[in-house]
Amino acid sequence: MIIVGGGPAGAALGTLLAQDGHKAIILEKDIHPRDHVGESLTPSTNLVFDRIGFLDKMNDNGFIHKPGTGWNAPRSPLWKFVEIWLFEFPLPGTPQPYTYNVERDEMDAMLLRHAHENGVKVLQGVKVTNVLFEGDRAVGVRAQVADGWERDLRARYVVDATGRRCQLASQLRMKKKDPNFNQFCIYSWFRGVKEPPERYRGFTLFYFIGLNQAWSWHIPLKDGKFSMGVVVDKEDFQKSGKSEEEFFFSLVGRNRTFTHAMQDAERIRPWWIEGDYSYKIDRFAGPGWLLVGDALRFVDPIFSSGVDVALFSSLYAYETLTEAMRTGNEERPFAEYQRRVEAGVDLWYELIETFYKLQNLVTRYASSPRWREMIVRTLQGNPYIPDTQNRARTLLDAMHDSYQKALADPGNLLRPWAMDPERADLPRCPQCLGVVDYIAAEGLYLCRKCGARRETAPEEEFLQAVPLDT
Ligand SMILES: Cc1cc2nc3c(=O)[nH]c(=O)nc-3n(C[C@H](O)[C@H](O)[C@H](O)COP(=O)(O)OP(=O)(O)OC[C@H]3O[C@@H](n4cnc5c(N)ncnc54)[C@H](O)[C@@H]3O)c2cc1C
Repeated sequence: MIIVGGGPAGAALGTLLAQDGHKAIILEKDIHPRDHVGESLTPSTNLVFDRIGFLDKMNDNGFIHKPGTGWNAPRSPLWKFVEIWLFEFPLPGTPQPYTYNVERDEMDAMLLRHAHENGVKVLQGVKVTNVLFEGDRAVGVRAQVADGWERDLRARYVVDATGRRCQLASQLRMKKKDPNFNQFCIYSWFRGVKEPPERYRGFTLFYFIGLNQAWSWHIPLKDGKFSMGVVVDKEDFQKSGKSEEEFFFSLVGRNRTFTHAMQDAERIRPWWIEGDYSYKIDRFAGPGWLLVGDALRFVDPIFSSGVDVALFSSLYAYETLTEAMRTGNEERPFAEYQRRVEAGVDLWYELIETFYKLQNLVTRYASSPRWREMIVRTLQGNPYIPDTQNRARTLLDAMHDSYQKALADPGNLLRPWAMDPERADLPRCPQCLGVVDYIAAEGLYLCRKCGARRETAPEEEFLQAVPLDT
């Protein structure tokens, strides 16, 4: 078996195959450790790490434990978040109540070494330039090393784990740009970022910045480092006429807590830019070939779903390939692979779309005791099994229902952007509907009309007051 690409997807698949006695070779174009975006993991990645005997290595490395995640609005009071404790409802099968925030150069190098230690042949600095076909069947690859030396290698199956390079899908012209997401991301690592209160230790935090399909992340890493990044619609960056650094800091200024957190921050490595990254591929498997991880699809990363997809698609690819080899029939397991993985990734996609469209509503649901368990379990990851799927569907249906009701009522604050200062009105006093200003020196909100002073942002008081009747 040839696996092209030694990121989390390729390394996990190689390990699973080798542990089951199959011969696998991983061809990786870079030499690990190499930098990579994607530092916040879902709880369910524990399940695959455990399955391949890698969880102890994650713990031994000292990666930051992530027990939860939180988000806030541009004018939320300092360090106030909608908080999701990801293990508030136990994740069946996981031996620990936390997942991780990781330095990807370290984690990916460790995973690749783990594959090697389990018997996978790992060749680094070897780039695959072409997947070789006989008729419509993949039969091998053309491999090239840096000095130009090339060789054709043959195998029963070729698995594309090349991440967003999508080697095979590009070769077969199957990659389609996502019409709904055209995002652009700038991030780097910093020291001196202000730490949130103890309660949020290890949390991945998201700051919303009042722009469409835009957000920023705050991920604590080891030794006092923080990964801080912004995601925006690419057009917003292009229209701004700013350099990447100027643009980044102009967005920092759009969220009160983000501004505070970055006050004394010092950048410790170059800016890292990612653009145009969302796409779809309709076919995940064909005669002699299969796609895993980002090589099969990439959806917006707001729910930290990337490594989850990489690991679970690899687990299912392993089951698919071993069944095909055992039975000599690949059609049925390949079709099942497509169905299972597609259903899971489609669900991530729908959740992301819903989140962008109905952010106020999702926030409201997350604070509702009635819906909290469903929200937490959905964000735990692994949406490929019927249980998770049914739960997420119930949640999505309920939210869409609430949305229709909110839309029908022009005064309903759960409408998209209803409380956004640039798209709707200024923040209003819940008592008299006068305009409310934030008085930074006193850390409170003052109504211009009735003079009421309050500590909570008016939009939050409004949201708490809106009943959820679904
Ligand atoms: C802005 C942004 C933020 C993100 N945040 C998160 C997050 O917080 N959490 C999360 O889980 N995910 C996140 N992701 C997604 C995450 O980065 C990926 O989903 C994850 O790395 C996928 O793993 P993979 O193994 O499929 O691909 P990769 O990790 O990209 O690995 C692919 C490997 O293939 C190699 N390769 C490529 N082409 C060739 C070739 N021709 N020959 C040989 N080798 C080749 C590459 O060198 C690479 O090592 C984010 C992504 C973006 C863009």
